[in-house]
Amino acid sequence: MSSQKRVRVRFAPSPTGGLHLGGVRTALFNYLFARQHQGEFILRIEDTDQTRFVPGAEEYINECLAWCGIVPDESPSKEGAYGPYRQSERKPSYRQYAEQLVEKGFAYYAFDTAEELDEQRKIQPNFRYSHENRMNLRNSLSLPAEVTQQLLAEGHSHTIRIKMPQDETVSFEDMIRGRVSFETGLVDDKVLLKADGMPTYHLAVVVDDKAMEISHIFRGEEWLPSAPVHILLWEYLGWADEMPQWAHLPLILKPDGNGKLSKRDGDRLGFPVYAMNWTDPKTGDLTKGFRELGFLPEAFVNMLGVLGWNDGTEQELFSLAELIEKFSVSRVSKAGAKFDFEKAKWFNHEWIKRTDDVTLLPKIKENIEQHGVDTSTQSETYMLNVLGAVKERLTYVEDFWTQASFFFVTPEQYDVEAVKPKWNEQKTAFFQEIINDFELQSDWTAAVLEPLFKEKITSSGLKMGELMMPYRIMLVGGKFGPDVFQITELLGKEEVIRRIGKALPLFS
Ligand code: GLU
Repeated sequence: MSSQKRVRVRFAPSPTGGLHLGGVRTALFNYLFARQHQGEFILRIEDTDQTRFVPGAEEYINECLAWCGIVPDESPSKEGAYGPYRQSERKPSYRQYAEQLVEKGFAYYAFDTAEELDEQRKIQPNFRYSHENRMNLRNSLSLPAEVTQQLLAEGHSHTIRIKMPQDETVSFEDMIRGRVSFETGLVDDKVLLKADGMPTYHLAVVVDDKAMEISHIFRGEEWLPSAPVHILLWEYLGWADEMPQWAHLPLILKPDGNGKLSKRDGDRLGFPVYAMNWTDPKTGDLTKGFRELGFLPEAFVNMLGVLGWNDGTEQELFSLAELIEKFSVSRVSKAGAKFDFEKAKWFNHEWIKRTDDVTLLPKIKENIEQHGVDTSTQSETYMLNVLGAVKERLTYVEDFWTQASFFFVTPEQYDVEAVKPKWNEQKTAFFQEIINDFELQSDWTAAVLEPLFKEKITSSGLKMGELMMPYRIMLVGGKFGPDVFQITELLGKEEVIRRIGKALPLFS
């Protein structure tokens, strides 16, 4: 095996649309492993299926990796010594290997047309092109050699298929699952080279992993059934000694644990499944992503890092640097990991708290601007102080306005219902006096204002709650927000007095 090899891993998506969070997690685990071993992390675009190619998908993948901070060392836009990094551009390199396999008897030419195969599927619903029926189909194993030669010479359309052994056991040591075995007789004769001369995924993945000197492969569990084909190809091509080590990552499951999380589950349950917004160029349909919903990349990456992995302690919050340090394949679970959107939100909340205010400020300004307030009229110190006051309450940065709008605009509406029924003259008098007291106040800090306000309540003989709640509503409009004296301090003397004056007549 290849344990002494330099660590080179790859993320090999097909550019068919937006990136599912499972795809990003695959990229992440590859990246963590590479960084941990001072190796290289490669992005290879697997675009051999021209029918599934979607314009814009590759750009989306690049942007997404950049957003997450998992930047490839080699990629189509950053060529290393192993290029090209798009399989379509490597097309000429594949046929020779397919031909070589035919020569050695490990593969064969198949001349069946799509119509003929459709016909077979009609006759036998479970039709598989395999050892059971390959001799009844039109290929270089069933046809006399001269006929094959003639068909090839005449340029008849054909594919090349692997000849799966009838009854062998193929096994390998998966880094996560341990020994995994397959009966070859149950696997069909996969197409390796298509009629258009393009390789299929199966041939291309092996040829390229060899050519790019890939040492370890982390990929989704959905590829496990393909592993026997790939392992045989490594062997048949004479490269068994250089075969990478495999790790098939556990699936990300629906919240109820019933099956793989799909894009449709997201639509159904109201949360994103894609990393970033994706607009289908054909239909114009928009699929929402975590980024646009307001996730910080740190939170998104942290959440993915612990989907199917833990460090053996209770710790849940990890920066990318910590993940690089602590990640270990032996602690990746075999069982699927349930996706929990509430938990994902919790990660974002925690990461907002961990991010310093100055870093968040540009996003905060954007959020304020979106609500029609010109931030150039606001002092940065004020905005930072407000952020400090409401930060604990944010699930998304975009919640800032909901939590803090009253720091920038005077409330238009008041929760009058909460105060009016219990209002009386005594309360009006209290607030009129407070206005006077506040006017005389030169030291405008919560530390001074809070005792002043509270002592006044005590000496008035009224109850604390009867005045604190109306006071909050005067400043905020409703029964929410941070500490009311913190609000008082931040709003400043003039504004507080103005707000009390404005609300008072509405309450009485
Ligand atoms: N192109 C495959 C995909 O889209 C890559 C699978 C692999 O990593 O071998 O996921």
